[in-house]
Amino acid sequence: MNLLDTAIRVLEEGPICDHCLGRQFAKLSTGLTNKERGSALKTVLAMLGYQKFKEGDPSLLQKLASCSQQARTILNAKGTDEKCWLCNDLFKSLDVWVQRALKLLKKYQYDTFLVGTKVSGLLAENEEILWATSNIIHAEPLKSELNREIGKLIQEETGKEVNFERPDIIVLLDLAEGKVELQVSSVFIYGRYKKLIRGIPQTRWPCPLCQGDGCERCNYTGKLYPTSVEELMKDPVIERSGGTDVVFHGAGREDIDALMLGTGRPFVLEVKEPLHRHFDLIDLEKEINRLAKSKVEVRELRFVEKDMVEEVKIADADKVYRLRLIFKDTISEEKLKASLDKLCTNIKQRTPLRVAHRRADKVRTRTVHSAELIDMDVKGATIHVRCESGLYVKELISGDEGRTKPNLSELLGTEVQVRELDVIGVKHARRKKKN
Ligand SMILES: [Zn+2]
Ligand SMILES: [Zn+2]
Repeated sequence: MNLLDTAIRVLEEGPICDHCLGRQFAKLSTGLTNKERGSALKTVLAMLGYQKFKEGDPSLLQKLASCSQQARTILNAKGTDEKCWLCNDLFKSLDVWVQRALKLLKKYQYDTFLVGTKVSGLLAENEEILWATSNIIHAEPLKSELNREIGKLIQEETGKEVNFERPDIIVLLDLAEGKVELQVSSVFIYGRYKKLIRGIPQTRWPCPLCQGDGCERCNYTGKLYPTSVEELMKDPVIERSGGTDVVFHGAGREDIDALMLGTGRPFVLEVKEPLHRHFDLIDLEKEINRLAKSKVEVRELRFVEKDMVEEVKIADADKVYRLRLIFKDTISEEKLKASLDKLCTNIKQRTPLRVAHRRADKVRTRTVHSAELIDMDVKGATIHVRCESGLYVKELISGDEGRTKPNLSELLGTEVQVRELDVIGVKHARRKKKN
């Protein structure tokens, strides 16, 4: 069907605004707004009608005049108070939506945004009926035009950029409810932490008795330990970002009673719904370290993209541990050194008994790269072990009733106890974790 015939078919459906008429042919020209397309079509049709009328054929003019009051007024070049049946004159009230959005956006710091629209069932239905009855194949959906037009207006008002990939804020128009909502993207901060004292878990540990509600056992704190690495960072981050919450993502974790030394363990903080997304991280670092009072120390804070969370979590990093060992029987230095050498191999480790209730029972293979004697006395020894992440180091020493092989107790022929276990290095790499 020819373009003008299709346009007449659309006009015959009822009064329609320039935006909505033009949008049905959106994909047939570039560099124009739908409003310009619609207005041009109406003008051409009116001129064509008059031309034919003057040549003695009044049929087109009659047809246009019968379409609707609006179509008739095009011919008379007068305004109309008929509402567009497709959009209900939505495009006349764009500014109302823009003002609603600006009011909400005002309190946030952002560089980029994107407009999204939830079209009410009725509007979407109107449009689909029109496409079906008028055989329309070059249209653009209503919400695309709306998102773009409101986006342009917000851009003009605020000077902020539209971003389709990763907007700082999504402005959601709910047409049915007449509401605007914001979806504020999280801000992500990468860093490394050291844990300088024992007895602190990495993240908040809810009291198992009351599940965090507060009871006698937890002294109504709802938690098992007074603080955690996560909690020691939280307040200064909330204070500076104005966020509603902070989620801690660590590159693995050390035991509660293990120190985390060396260059520290990588982590990413996810700040939810931040009011501010640019703040001084050197100042934040100082404040966290001041408040953590030598329990925990953070360093290298920097803003990163969301992908860094996954990257940190799957980081298959080598770990370096310092272990203080106690031997049941007296062991010679030669024998210990020889046994440590034999430990530097592929270790077959069945899921340890102590975590078997929460992890799948299977055999994993992890490599010990080095096991080095640092210091030895009558009671025991201090060693450094460098190994692949995912190896349970306590079981590497004890043997876990034969579930880890080889193990140091077996190699030495005596029971060996781990008195202290500290992480002194995490080498953050970008390899995928294996099982
Ligand atoms: Zn309309
Ligand atoms: Zn409790």
